[in-house]
Amino acid sequence: MVESLNRVLVSRSALAHNFRVCAEKSGKVPILAMVKADAYGHGMVECARVFADSGARAFGVAEVAEGVLLRQSGIREPVFILAGLLPEFLETVIEYELTPVLVDGGMVDALAAVSLARGKKVHVHLKVDAGMGRQGCRLDQVPAVVGKIISHDSLHLAGIMAHFPMADDPVHGNSERVLNDFLNLITTLRPLRLQDCRCHIANSGGIFSVDGAELDMVRPGISLYGYGADGLEPGMTNGRLRPAMSFVSRILQVREVPAGTGLGYGHIYTTAKTTRLAVLPVGYEDGYLRALSNRAEVLVRGRRAPVVGRISMNLTLVDVSQVPEAQAGDEVVLLGSQGNERISADEIAGWLDTISYEVLCLFGHCNTREYKE
Ligand SMILES: *Cc1c(COP(=O)(O)O)cnc(C)c1O
Repeated sequence: MVESLNRVLVSRSALAHNFRVCAEKSGKVPILAMVKADAYGHGMVECARVFADSGARAFGVAEVAEGVLLRQSGIREPVFILAGLLPEFLETVIEYELTPVLVDGGMVDALAAVSLARGKKVHVHLKVDAGMGRQGCRLDQVPAVVGKIISHDSLHLAGIMAHFPMADDPVHGNSERVLNDFLNLITTLRPLRLQDCRCHIANSGGIFSVDGAELDMVRPGISLYGYGADGLEPGMTNGRLRPAMSFVSRILQVREVPAGTGLGYGHIYTTAKTTRLAVLPVGYEDGYLRALSNRAEVLVRGRRAPVVGRISMNLTLVDVSQVPEAQAGDEVVLLGSQGNERISADEIAGWLDTISYEVLCLFGHCNTREYKE
């Protein structure tokens, strides 16, 4: 196979290391590893295998098709369908022994009927809105929905979950309020004597910055891939997480242009002096977005070099005047480290006015991935 010029590299040992960091932080509580969005761009099946070997007790995806793919790849642990369930998928959910997360009472009877017909007892979780304000069952409606679920012998209510809207923001006290409302809800359900019903609320931000949020299970996502939640102080994870993804390209050509040369589409950059340019085979089709034009930096021979001019579909220019040894064929790091320098997804997210999650999804989805130990 011919190697691509642009490659996303994923370190399996970094994934396993991050899993251990999350496990240590959350005590003995089981870990549901979030592998939705193709494991935040890192490759769902490959990451699920690493996390399963590391001791993950369950996996979380957004929709049924992802869950089926995990099953077809040999993943045996429970797979939670956390966002996208519609009645037409219920047969598939049961056939592949996926764990449906219900958001109201709407599908309860249909799910019970299918599971009864198949002779399988189905474990379901209920997603409640304890302050996220997005998806789920309103707190005042939970007792009725729980009652409806437990009225069916073919269903087992195996868990109740909520999600934090601001787990990464320790300042506003929102997470304490949400956790408290969630725990109060659980208390009101006590007379129902639910057996083997796990409560879970903590994403990465919850694990690392909300005291007491571990409950019966935790659901880390971004921290497994080596980043803090949006805005989370790197200090909160004690700098222990290791970014698993890097994104590298190659220099195609090095050329020198005189002062006053307009570079690329729109000439949004004009050289002020004689400039040595490295031409890279990367562009917005690889997820190296146009918004990075005149903004991003890359690593060449262990040093930072600025992107100059407009990023086009397949070509990007870098000013390597300060890296005189740079030559065609050199590896260029767009995300990751080289020598003593490092460009993180948080830094790129800053240039793009977004968050690390989006950068990882973007680079991971747009490029060929390779795995290393
Ligand atoms: C994505 C997601 C998570 C993981 O969130 P991170 O911030 O990446 O740790 C946890 N729970 C639910 C319901 C999610 O959708």
